[in-house]
Amino acid sequence: MTAIPPHDDVSKLTLVCDGCGDSVSENKPSADYRAAWLLLWQQAVHASWKGNARPIGPHYCPECEA
Ligand SMILES: [Zn+2]
Repeated sequence: MTAIPPHDDVSKLTLVCDGCGDSVSENKPSADYRAAWLLLWQQAVHASWKGNARPIGPHYCPECEA
């Protein structure tokens, strides 16, 4: 899956697992979409998420990656 929303609105950014649909989100991480995405992705990676470091994905949570 992808980060939601894919662009523009960064009031809330959500990362969804392609395997199980689990998600993590970040509220207003940054006014800039790319910076917001990178911040969320860094946190996800720190939490053992795997996948493409781009919003378009794919992304997998620790459960599905294991
Ligand atoms: Zn998953």
